[in-house]
Amino acid sequence: MTDPPPVLVFEELTVRFGKGETAVRAVNGVSMQVAPGEIVALVGESGCGKSVTALTALGLTRGHHAEISGRVLFDGRDLLVASEAELRAVRGGQMAMIFQDPLTCLNPSMRIGAQIEEMINLHEDCSEEEARHRAVMLLGDFGIPAARERARAYPHELSGGMRQRVMLAMAMACSPRMLLAEEPTTALDVTIQAQILELIRALARDRRSGVLLITHDLGAVAAVADRVAVIYAGRIVESGSAAEVFADPQHPYTWGLLASIPRVDRPRTRRLHSIPGQPPSLRELTEGCAFRDRCAYAFERCSERPELAPRRDDQHLDACHLPVHERPALRERSLAPGDG
Ligand code: SF4
Repeated sequence: MTDPPPVLVFEELTVRFGKGETAVRAVNGVSMQVAPGEIVALVGESGCGKSVTALTALGLTRGHHAEISGRVLFDGRDLLVASEAELRAVRGGQMAMIFQDPLTCLNPSMRIGAQIEEMINLHEDCSEEEARHRAVMLLGDFGIPAARERARAYPHELSGGMRQRVMLAMAMACSPRMLLAEEPTTALDVTIQAQILELIRALARDRRSGVLLITHDLGAVAAVADRVAVIYAGRIVESGSAAEVFADPQHPYTWGLLASIPRVDRPRTRRLHSIPGQPPSLRELTEGCAFRDRCAYAFERCSERPELAPRRDDQHLDACHLPVHERPALRERSLAPGDG
C-alpha cells in the first residue's frame, strides 16, 4: 500500500521581517511535511522560529513587512501565493489553529456554543438547528460534561482546561484536514495536559487530521508525536521519527532540550539542566553553526554552517559537525548533569 500524500508540506520556507541591517531572519529554509493522521512536533525555545513557521502557513505573517520565500503546500496548493479570500476559506475550515491561551481566541462576550455554531455556519451550509446540535455533540466529544448546559456558558465561566477543550472542539468543528496546535498544554496542570494531548492524539487517529504541534516541551512531544523536527535560530537542526530522536538524539541542542525535561527516575534533589545562554539575535546571525556560542562541544569547523543531512540513517537528519562515533559519549555527559 502506498503512503497517502502529505496534507501540509513546507519547502525551503524562509521568512524575513524588515530590511537591511535591521532585518530579522525568523525562518531559514525550513522543509518538512505532515501526513494525514500524523502528529509532527516542531520543537524549540521561544524565538526559534516555530510560531512564525505556523503563522506563515496560515497567511498571518503577510503584511507585516515580511519577505517570504519557498512554498507551503496544503493539499498540493501553494498557500504563499493564495489570495486572501482563498486563505480565509482555508483558515478555520480546512486548517485550524489552537493557541496556548484560549482566551485570546474565544470571544468573551459570546456563549461558547454560539461560537462553535458560528464557526460551522461560516464554513458549511447547514441549518441553525443542525449547527446547534453539532456544537453540543462536539463539546461532548471533547469531554465537556453536561454539554447542552455548558454550551450556554461564557468563556470566563470555564476552567483553563475546559477552555482548551472548547478551543479544540471549535477547531475541529469543520473536520479540518490539518490542525496547528501552538503550546496547547503549557498553561495547564499536568493531569489536564495529559488529557488534552490524548484528545489531540485521538483526533489524529480517528479523524485522520494532520497535526503540527508547536512546542518547547519535549515531554509533551514524547507523549504524542510520530515525528519530531527540532528548530534553532530558524533552521531545523535535527529531525526524525519521535522514537529515533528520543532513543538516539544526535544534536547537542536536542541533548540540551532533553536534559531539561523533569524525569521521575532522577532524584528530586537534582537540579534541572538548562541550556546556558540565550538563542542568538536573529538580526545578527553570522555564518557557521548558530548554536556554537552555547554548545559545549564547539570546535574549529563549527564556524562553517552544518547542513541538515542524514548521518546515521536516511530518515534521521541532523545539522552538526561532530563525528558520529564521538556523539554517544558526549551525549551521555550532556544528559547526566551533576546533582544540584
Ligand atoms: Fe556544536 Fe559544532 Fe555541532 Fe554546532 S556544529 S552543534 S557548534 S558541535
